[in-house]
Formats: sequence, structure tokens, C-alpha cells
Amino acid sequence: MYSYRVNEIFYSIQGEGEFAGAPAVFVRFSGCNLACPWCDTDHSHGVDMTRDELEDAVKKLLAGHDGAIIVLTGGEPALQLHDDEPLFQGFARFLCIETNGTQPVPGWIDWITVSPKNELSPIVPRPNELKFVFEPEHIPYYLSMQEADCILNIQPLARKDGTSNLREAVDFVLAHPRFKLSVQLHKMIGVR
Ligand code: SF4
Repeated sequence: MYSYRVNEIFYSIQGEGEFAGAPAVFVRFSGCNLACPWCDTDHSHGVDMTRDELEDAVKKLLAGHDGAIIVLTGGEPALQLHDDEPLFQGFARFLCIETNGTQPVPGWIDWITVSPKNELSPIVPRPNELKFVFEPEHIPYYLSMQEADCILNIQPLARKDGTSNLREAVDFVLAHPRFKLSVQLHKMIGVR
């Protein structure tokens, strides 16, 4: 039996990627193997939970919300998941993970969203979608991924001063229709 270090668990609307708009229970795991300079995730806080405690907390939030999906995020959630201890079996409609792609993802996950950190190629063999935070200097890298057999999302970069490069991201997607624009819907509608 493993222990899981969890930062927070909450019910909200998925704001990004293919399931944007879907009600979801989010499990944010603590800790990450990377240290991206723009990271706005607090990795320092977490509570250690057993599988039963974690599943009970998620079940409580799913009660009455049967169609909701579950999103495992972080930090880097794949650091704490194990092939031999599947989570949320039998009561989840759909189990998604948001990962930086550097860690193996267990086979019991239904949907894998990889957000590559540009300098690293994802090692996850078959992601369902890739999500790139748009930085024009990395356009050659995005274009090199055009043949990937998955959904390709471009997400505007939200700067700390409140501005973003939305217009450049829109122009890129219009010029390269293999990519889709993914905006952070949760921020637009004012939810977590
Ligand atoms: S991979 Fe994600 S969670 Fe980890 S440091 Fe980078 S932005 Fe933060």
C-alpha cells in the first residue's frame, strides 16, 4: 500500500484541453521533478493520504455529481502513481492525468494530457493530447510535433503582469490548423 502526498482536492470546471468545460474533481498531488521558472504551483504543502483516504475524499466530492470526470494534476502526479495500485476504479466516469511527460503513466489512466516543457521530449509513449504553452521561440519545436498521433493544443502564455500572448497564439493556430487553441476557461469564468 502506497502513501500519496496531496496538495488539494476540489470540485470545479476543467478549464483546459479537450475536456474544457467538463465538471471535474481535481486531485492535485504535491511535488514535481522539474523546476520551471514560470511555475505557479505551490509544491511545498501536502497531506499524506492512504489510498482509502484519497478515494474517500474524491467519492465525497463525486456524490451527486455522477457524470463528473476526475483529473489528476500537480505538481507531477505521475511521480506518485503506480501500475500495481490503480486508483478510483469502479466509481469514476473518466480518469484524466495532466503530466509533464517525463514519467511513465500507469495503464489504468483513461486520458493522458502531456504538457511538454520544450527542452524535454515527452517519454509517455501515446499521449491523447499535447498542450504547449505558447512561446514563439519554440515554434520549430511545435512544428516538429505536427505528425504526432494526438490532439495538439496551443495555450497562450499568461504572464505574471496579467497580459498574455493570446493574439500571437491565435495567429499561429490560424496559420497551422493541425493545432487547436486552448484558453484557460476556468480563469475566464472565475473558478479554480
Ligand atoms: S512541470 Fe509543471 S508543475 Fe512541474 S515545475 Fe514545471 S510547471 Fe511546475
